Amino acid sequence: MTRLTLRARYVFPATSDSIPDGFVAIEGGRIVDVGPCRAGGPPAIQNDLGNVAIIPGLVNAHAHLDFSRLSAPLGHRGIALPDWIRLAMAYRRQAADQLPSALFEGLSECLRHGVTTVADIVQPGWSPIAAPLNLAAFLELIGPTADRVPVAIQLANTYLKNAASPGENSKGCVSFGLSPHAPYSVHPQLLTAIVRLSIEKAVPLAMHLAESPEELELLQNGTGPLRDLLDDIKSSRGPLVAEAGAAPHRGSRPMDFLRSLSPAFRALIVHGNYLSDDEIAFLGTNALRMAAVYCPRSHDWFGHQPYPLENMLRAGVTVGLGTDGRGSAPDLNLLAEMRLIAKLHPGVGLDWVLKLGTLSGAEALGRADSIGSLSPGKRADLAIVALPDRDAKDPHELLFDSEKPVTACWLGGEQAWAADRQLA
Ligand SMILES: [Zn+2]
Repeated sequence: MTRLTLRARYVFPATSDSIPDGFVAIEGGRIVDVGPCRAGGPPAIQNDLGNVAIIPGLVNAHAHLDFSRLSAPLGHRGIALPDWIRLAMAYRRQAADQLPSALFEGLSECLRHGVTTVADIVQPGWSPIAAPLNLAAFLELIGPTADRVPVAIQLANTYLKNAASPGENSKGCVSFGLSPHAPYSVHPQLLTAIVRLSIEKAVPLAMHLAESPEELELLQNGTGPLRDLLDDIKSSRGPLVAEAGAAPHRGSRPMDFLRSLSPAFRALIVHGNYLSDDEIAFLGTNALRMAAVYCPRSHDWFGHQPYPLENMLRAGVTVGLGTDGRGSAPDLNLLAEMRLIAKLHPGVGLDWVLKLGTLSGAEALGRADSIGSLSPGKRADLAIVALPDRDAKDPHELLFDSEKPVTACWLGGEQAWAADRQLA
């Protein structure tokens, strides 16, 4: 088997200190060795990449790739979530024929930004594709009323039956999950059934939770702008959603949903912007099977209160990063999300910022055994990032206090994209 060795000014394994003048050796699609060139190093350097960093391929733990054809987010900065949902629903109706091609454009854009694994929320009717990178496809399930529950369960069953086994190949690997959309759009019976399916079929779940103040108001009192939205949907769709707006979870709070989700095979809590301290502690206690997903630029678009990232990390919560979709973020650049975290959360060490976009995302998806760090035995999924021509006390500053782009990425030991030539 041929061994390929890549040398770079810095190698950032994500599980240990950065390595100046480091190398990564790849064989059979896997990483076989990582270390410093100067201390003996590998016998023969085949590819000296120069003034760049080699980092683990980035993990985007939450995206809506069907919005990938949007050139700018919907609405305006500070828009309330219920108003944004109205715009998103209108866009989906108006751009329905473009949504399948948007998915492929989104996947290509991910690669250009060094993302080698993406967790995407897909819509009913989606069927497995040959993805150019690792794709975790979570089927969105909506059923706010009891009469919609059987249809949604049927959709979930069919989806999982048609889902091929996740087997790996030299490029991406496709895996499957379910996404009970949000507390206000999922009836309690549906949530129970989905959690049961998650356990039976060993598939992960992803649910939007504690995303907005309007959601908390609806859960607690059954009132507010989200209630108005549900009522409007009810009147526009007629008797099929007769109970929509009846706020089936009235008198509840995010903790009730965390408890409902906790027996699942795995659960990603998407956003969690307004989780309270006891809810964060609950996620910390259950960090092996539950994770939060922070989408910094989407969070910024909505103007939410500061994200409780430091609290989460202190509580031991597994936190992955997502871009969300282009409906609420400018693009699918996960490195830009990490750079924003470095600015917004100076209390979080830059080594942690690297982990959030790599290893923690892999842990959130239950894939840390094969991706997320530059460790011998793992898939050779790498991102190459250009570095500025200066020194820094902490080499992570060269990655995050910089605007330099990703210049290439590797999947399973093969170059999947390069800025100067597209190979795949
Ligand atoms: Zn989302």
